[in-house]
Amino acid sequence: MRFFDKQIGEFQREIDGKGKSVFAFHGKLWEDVGRNEIVMQREAAFELHGTGFELFTSDKLGKDEIIVVGEDLKDLKNGTLFARVSLIELDSVSDEQTAHDTVKKIEYIKYHYFPKGYMVRTNSLSSEENVRVSKKAVKEGISFEKAGSLLISKYKENSAVKAVKLFFITDKTVNYTALNSLSEKSREITSALDRVIRNLNLDCDTCKLKAICDEVEGMKELHFKNAGK
Ligand code: SF4
Repeated sequence: MRFFDKQIGEFQREIDGKGKSVFAFHGKLWEDVGRNEIVMQREAAFELHGTGFELFTSDKLGKDEIIVVGEDLKDLKNGTLFARVSLIELDSVSDEQTAHDTVKKIEYIKYHYFPKGYMVRTNSLSSEENVRVSKKAVKEGISFEKAGSLLISKYKENSAVKAVKLFFITDKTVNYTALNSLSEKSREITSALDRVIRNLNLDCDTCKLKAICDEVEGMKELHFKNAGK
């Protein structure tokens, strides 16, 4: 799968040279409360404002890891800018419809992990992702490694997921505007996959999807292969 290659390259350039703490994934390290737990403002240690998105590849990623770029939860202050980026290696899938369905299923997982004392608020119409962390969770030692271990566990319930590099970014020197643009582009690609598969027009010169097909590697091949051309 090459659809997200350009965005993966740009993402890697954005965090290149920044200080990182890398944690190997060892299974679940924090309690999953199994439902959306409300952390009231008065119980909150702080809130993080940012974006969260997935980038998919069929390149080998190696071991599952949680990578923190910047300060970890115990050191953060209210209003810190934040990004969560899940770089996910997918098994090679035989057909494009399956690839599209797999991407959609995996994107949905972010709405279904519930670390105790770590309330994730997302917006289904954008890539906005805000996190409110309780004082109790901070006292009990929550960290990105522990909260992130639950998200990786959920991803890996899908047998198409071969490896995950899960990034939590709080470094003040990172360009969050650029990360927001990348997240929007990744949403655009996912939504275009569906429209390209269903598109009956086979004339690129008159097609409304030409801009995205010209920009995203593999998109044209996806359409013509799916249309049997
Ligand atoms: S390949 Fe892309 S631009 Fe060409 S017809 Fe198909 S969807 Fe449209």
